[in-house]
Amino acid sequence: MPTSIVWFKTDLRLHDNEALVKAIQQNNSVVPVFCIDDDQFGKTKFGFEKTGSFRAQFLLESLADLDTQLRKLKSGLVIVRGIPEEELPRVARLYNAKKVYAKKEVTTDEKKQEERVVAALWKQGCMVETFSTSTLYHAEDLPFPLRGIPDVFTTFRKKIEKEAGIRPVFHKPDSIPSPIIPLMELPSLEELGLEEIALDSRAAITFKGGETEGLKRLNDYIFKTEAIATYKETRNGLLGKNYSSKFSPWLAMGCLSPREVYHEVKKYEAKNGANKSTYWMIFELLWRDYFRFMMKKHRNKLFLSGGIKNIAPKLSKPNAEVLQRWINGETGQDFIDANMRELKLTGFMSNRGRQNVASYLCHELDTDWRYGAAYFEEILIDYDPSSNWGNWAYIAGVGNDPRVERHFDPQKQADDYDAKKTYRDLWLQEA
Ligand SMILES: Cc1cc2nc3c(=O)[nH]c(=O)nc-3n(C[C@H](O)[C@H](O)[C@H](O)COP(=O)(O)OP(=O)(O)OC[C@H]3O[C@@H](n4cnc5c(N)ncnc54)[C@H](O)[C@@H]3O)c2cc1C
Repeated sequence: MPTSIVWFKTDLRLHDNEALVKAIQQNNSVVPVFCIDDDQFGKTKFGFEKTGSFRAQFLLESLADLDTQLRKLKSGLVIVRGIPEEELPRVARLYNAKKVYAKKEVTTDEKKQEERVVAALWKQGCMVETFSTSTLYHAEDLPFPLRGIPDVFTTFRKKIEKEAGIRPVFHKPDSIPSPIIPLMELPSLEELGLEEIALDSRAAITFKGGETEGLKRLNDYIFKTEAIATYKETRNGLLGKNYSSKFSPWLAMGCLSPREVYHEVKKYEAKNGANKSTYWMIFELLWRDYFRFMMKKHRNKLFLSGGIKNIAPKLSKPNAEVLQRWINGETGQDFIDANMRELKLTGFMSNRGRQNVASYLCHELDTDWRYGAAYFEEILIDYDPSSNWGNWAYIAGVGNDPRVERHFDPQKQADDYDAKKTYRDLWLQEA
C-alpha cells in the first residue's frame, strides 16, 4: 500500500496542482509536507536578508491557509524546519514513503537544492517526480527546443501565441487519503529572525497570503469590480487597489495558478466579450513565463553582473551611502524617492515604479545592478527569482532587452504618470 509525500514549495494551493493530483491518483496514502528552509533566511552575499518580513509573513499566512484547506479534505500539512535534503528523507522514513511528488524548479539555487534532495532520498530508496506547475504554457508544449527559445520577447510571444495551447487546470481534489497529521505549529517572524511588520495605512492593498485570498482577489478583480475590462488603460498607474491586478504575490507563492487566471479571464470574455485589456492580462503573464524559460535556457547567467551578454561590470562594490539613500528614498529625485518609500513600507511597488527605480540605480547612480536585485529579493512581497533577476538584468542592459540600455528619465516619467503629484505627495509626506 504505497505512501507518498507531496513536497509543497512555492505551489501553496490545491487547485491546478499536478503534483498533488498525481500523488492522490497513484497512492493509497499521501502526506503533504512543507519544509521551512533555513537557507531562505539570513543574509545573502549582497548583505540583504534573503527573505524579509513582508514575504515571510505572507508565507506563514499561506501555510496556515493551506493547512486549513487540507484539513477540510481530511488531511493536513506537516511542517518541518531545517534543510530540505535532511528533513524530506527524515519525514519519508517516518511515514515509510517511497516517492516524493514536487514542483520542478528552474533557477540555479532551487535546482541545486532539488538535486540534493533527490540524491538524499535516492539513498533510502525513495524516488522523486517533479512537475511543471508554475507557468501558463507547459514547458513540454513550447514550439521550440530549450536552446532555441527566442531571446527577444516579441519573437517568443508571437510564436507561442500562434503555435502553442494552454492546458486546462487540474481540479481541486475532493478528498485526500492521509494518515493522521498532527496539528502544525508555525514559527513567528521573530523566531525566523525577522522584525514584526506594521503596515503603512497608505498601502494600495493589504495582501494576505493563501489560496483562499488569492482566489478571492482573482474573483474581485475580474468579476466583482470588472477592473480587468480597463486593465490596459490603467496598468501603468501608481495609486489604488485596481490600477493593476495585484495577483503577483499569490502567483509568486503559487497560491494562484497562472492557468487559473487565464481560464477565468476566458470565462469573463465568453460572458462580456474580449477586449484589448483582457488580452493584455494574458500578455503580461507571458512575460512571467518568458523570464522562467530564459532562466531555464541561460541558467545562472542572469544572476551574474555581465548577464547573458557577458558585459563587464561598471563597479565591483557599490558606494554604501549612495545605495542606502536609494533604499531609504532619499536620493533627492522625488519620483524615485516616493516609489522607494512605498516599497520599504509596504513590500510592494507598481511596475512603472520598479522600472524607474531600477533604471535610476543602474544608470544614474552607476551601481552594480545586482545590489538592487538583492534588495528587491529581501523586500518584495511578490519576489520571484526569475521575474526579479530577469527584469533587473533587462533594465541593466545585460539581459534580454534588444536595446543596449533601457534608460528611464524619472522627471519625464513623473510628468507622464503623476502629473498632479498625487502619488509623490502621498509617499513623500511623513506617515
Ligand atoms: C526591476 C523589476 C523587478 C521585478 N521583480 C518582480 C518579482 O520579483 N516578482 C514579480 O512577480 N514581478 C516582478 N516584476 C514584474 C512586475 O513589476 C510585477 O509583476 C507587477 O508589478 C506586479 O503587480 P501586478 O500583479 O498588479 O501586475 P499586473 O500588471 O496586474 O500583471 C499581471 C501579472 O503579470 C505578471 N507580470 C507583469 N509584468 C511582468 C514583468 N515585467 N515580468 C514578469 N511578470 C510580469 C505578474 O505575474 C503580474 O502579477 C519586476 C519588474 C521589474 C521592472
